[in-house]
Amino acid sequence: MKNLDWKNLAFGYSDTNYNVRCYYRDGKWSELEVSDSTQITLHMAATCLHYGQEAFEGLKAYRGNDGKIRVFRIEENAKRMQSSARGILMQEVPTEIFVEAIHKVVKLNEEFVPPFGTGASLYIRPLLIGSGPQIGVKPANEFMFMVFVMPVGPYFKAGFKPTDYVIYREYDRAAPLGTGNIKVGGNYAASLNAGMRAHNEGFSAVLYLDAREKKYLDECGPANFFGIKGNSYITPKSKSILPSITNNSLRQLALDLGMQVEERQIPVEELAEFNEAGACGTAAVVSPIRSIYDADKDIRYFYGEEPGAISQKLYQKLIDIQYGVEPDLHHWVSIVD
Ligand SMILES: *Cc1c(COP(=O)(O)O)cnc(C)c1O
Repeated sequence: MKNLDWKNLAFGYSDTNYNVRCYYRDGKWSELEVSDSTQITLHMAATCLHYGQEAFEGLKAYRGNDGKIRVFRIEENAKRMQSSARGILMQEVPTEIFVEAIHKVVKLNEEFVPPFGTGASLYIRPLLIGSGPQIGVKPANEFMFMVFVMPVGPYFKAGFKPTDYVIYREYDRAAPLGTGNIKVGGNYAASLNAGMRAHNEGFSAVLYLDAREKKYLDECGPANFFGIKGNSYITPKSKSILPSITNNSLRQLALDLGMQVEERQIPVEELAEFNEAGACGTAAVVSPIRSIYDADKDIRYFYGEEPGAISQKLYQKLIDIQYGVEPDLHHWVSIVD
């Protein structure tokens, strides 16, 4: 295994040994290629550069205390990337190729999978781009799929510690019937200004409202939102949020714990009724929310300096499954060997 400072890894890019790539040309996907270069050669008129034909995924591999390397719900990421591809007219990557690419790239970079107990993991970034040239607004006729990896620590430097979120009504990350429900770079470009302002004003992220009416909660930039009220796990239902696999898993775990699960529109004012609030996604897993500041109304919803008991329990259950500490009753995990 590599000799890295595993316990102090940031959530950020770093080089590893290899990445894998394949190409869609003349109506078919090529064999997977292994590359040790961090560079790609691209046509200057590639549609990813001009018309935003770009989708990505994010998942993680975890080293268990049994030494085995596990990846979490990989088929769900494959399906979601196919849905993103359909959403912006790119060629879908078949599930078999997606799964094979991820197993291969993890295996090739095995020495970068952090040791059990460090809280770190190997972040996996699949990327699909329109690589063929077009100058009229049309989808590409060639596509490139690649997967690279890097060891990461927790997404938020504070770790599992509540942080502050903010609501601004003057920004949207996605239109009501736009691309908010697929994982494309354009949504992230649209969120950079609001995110930068939030950081400058001391918040860890923006909580977006629905773009049409600004009445209901949507999601938190790169993570879904959930609230806990009594024995209920409540999360927004909206056409413009990304269906988070972490959120989907937490809903199942909440049911397993005998909780109620509600997926519905959540009016902003209901923030006052939650006992706990959190953001969830692969990068942050569960990120408890200390407070949400509604900047336009000057209202601060406060949830506590310490993570709520239920958020904590759900988080622990999820990571225990991911690291192979708890039995994988829902068959979410696959072993890389
Ligand atoms: C990737 C992503 C999430 C989290 O999804 P997971 O499958 O849980 O990682 C949430 N919101 C947005 C906008 C995303 O792009």
